[in-house]
Amino acid sequence: MSSLNLVILGPPGAGKGTQAERLARARGIPKISTGDILREAVQAGTPIGLRAKAIMDRGELVSDDVMIGIVKDRLDRPDARPGFILDGFPRTVAQAIALDGIMAGRAPLIVVDIAVPEAELVRRLGARLICESCGKNAEGVSDPSVPCPRCGGRLTQRADDNETVVLERLRVYHRNTAPLVEFYRTRPTFRSVDGAQAPDRVAAALEAAVAEAGDPAAGQPEGVRR
Ligand code: AMP
Repeated sequence: MSSLNLVILGPPGAGKGTQAERLARARGIPKISTGDILREAVQAGTPIGLRAKAIMDRGELVSDDVMIGIVKDRLDRPDARPGFILDGFPRTVAQAIALDGIMAGRAPLIVVDIAVPEAELVRRLGARLICESCGKNAEGVSDPSVPCPRCGGRLTQRADDNETVVLERLRVYHRNTAPLVEFYRTRPTFRSVDGAQAPDRVAAALEAAVAEAGDPAAGQPEGVRR
């Protein structure tokens, strides 16, 4: 299969992580989630993790310099050569410009925005549970007394999924990240899919968008907008 260099854009709660993980597994390429990388750094107590924690707990953005450095190092690793799926990066125009620089000499980026109405995002983030052991979202589970379906660990709410921080993250998204849709929209490899559907349908729309963006001659499939 030809290489796939994919950015999944979208607000917090759009399902970027879920969809990135599914597609990455299907394609045998790494899912690179900057939120996961930062949460791992926090848990490991590294200098970046120690500085990032307070910023993440407030729902604000870690500095562009730090994030660009993290992503550049990660994309330089050999497993990302055949392709990758970025989840949570870029989040600012400065990060997007830096990513274009990192991509020089590689297959063009495909960018898919997952669009979800705001009220649905607030509902999803308020109900979301993650596992304290494996750090994954427990999809479809809303009862914190149920063990993690993957590893049996304890489920909990993410520190930044409480209501105050969710509202701040959505404000930050509108201010810093939503402008990226306009940044990428005019590119022939940009697509938008409806993320308010069931995860299987979003996955199908995403696959179709990726196929079509990589081969525009294939025509416009249902559920995909330019
Ligand atoms: P996420 O898991 O993608 O929702 O990210 C969780 C938090 O990590 C965000 O609210 C930010 O504080 C931080 N973060 C993740 N990715 C980035 C990024 N590309 N730029 C700045 N901060 C980020």
